[in-house]
Amino acid sequence: MPARTILVINCGSSSIKFALVAAQPGPFILSGLAERLGSTTAVLHWQQDGQQHSEALHGGDHRAALAALLPKVQAASAGSLLGIGHRVVHGGEHFTQACRLDAEVIASIRAIAPLAPLHNPASLQGIEAALAVYPQLPQVAVFDTAFHQTLPEHAYRYALPESLYREHGVRRYGFHGTSHRYVSQQAAQLAGLAVDGSSWLVAHLGNGCSTCAVVNGQSRDTSMGLTPLEGLVMGTRSGDVDPNLHGHLSRTLGWSLARIDAMLNQESGLLGLSGLSNDMRTLEQARADGHSGATLAIEVFCYRLAKSLAAMACALPQLDGLIFTGGIGEHSPLIRATTVAHLKLLGLALDETANQRTRGGASGPIHAPGSPRVLVVPTNEERQIALDTLTLLSA
Ligand code: AMP
Repeated sequence: MPARTILVINCGSSSIKFALVAAQPGPFILSGLAERLGSTTAVLHWQQDGQQHSEALHGGDHRAALAALLPKVQAASAGSLLGIGHRVVHGGEHFTQACRLDAEVIASIRAIAPLAPLHNPASLQGIEAALAVYPQLPQVAVFDTAFHQTLPEHAYRYALPESLYREHGVRRYGFHGTSHRYVSQQAAQLAGLAVDGSSWLVAHLGNGCSTCAVVNGQSRDTSMGLTPLEGLVMGTRSGDVDPNLHGHLSRTLGWSLARIDAMLNQESGLLGLSGLSNDMRTLEQARADGHSGATLAIEVFCYRLAKSLAAMACALPQLDGLIFTGGIGEHSPLIRATTVAHLKLLGLALDETANQRTRGGASGPIHAPGSPRVLVVPTNEERQIALDTLTLLSA
């Protein structure tokens, strides 16, 4: 039985993803998802010892789901459970690292909620439910934005009136920090380099996508901004558009802000471009079958990604390697090859056999001889959250 375990919780407005993670590397002891919380079809799914299980929660909310989960976690951890690590999307400028939860920290997360109106209230719902159900356990918040608090001011400020920054927090924050940090550390290990002194470009490509420049283990620039909409083309998010688009659509089509927000966040990106799907697997298949929308969506996705990586290179003193991670980055040789083909000026080139071979959770180098490193590194945000929680609770 593992010596020390952490329960990692990631709350959405009607779901809780969880994993019971041991301090030593290895598969999760127990992991799963409670979904449709608050509805009559609320259900808890979990996986343990290679077996799938489900339990109806009959209209249960976050609290009911965590109460149903508690005995399973206690049995699986056999008394080794040290605490809970919560993923919190937005820590604003207040949180530069993980933080033990108390009334003051909860109040600060609540105060930051206007910057992440969809995400922080959901995290708070989970935190409050977990504190009620597990009052005896220490709990920690790990923030997606915290890793990017090392951005220099010239990278995080928008060219807007200063009062918007000083009085209203309008600046670039960046997201996916837990993933960028985890994979850049893993990459240094894979390459046999010290984290200190190493410089990486990271492409986290999942449903949400972002790039990051990591120097000496610190974020120096990243493609997401005030919100996770800025930057790359994503599953349903547009990424960068002309900031005048809002005014244009309002004037010419009479669209409301809510309509424009929904279009940019839920109807754009790969889905909008292809007219078919936000899922890269579906698009790759459709492209192979000659679908023009899917072909264009993939071309725009890769070109915009390459442009962002080239821009991130401005923040690096040298290039020790480019890292691909996230569902698309880990599994798609086509996206990696199409993107790297646009980056010849950085000297990057792939070994096509290694590129084709490295998928399905494999990690390793995929670059051609003479090219700077290109590495595939599977992300593991739950593990990083567990490690941060352990570090804080052991201090
Ligand atoms: P994530 O949010 O990290 O789970 O990533 C989700 C994205 O990864 C979706 O667009 C999936 O289509 C994509 N993905 C997962 N597996 C593959 C694959 N084998 N080939 C291409 N894309 C994949």
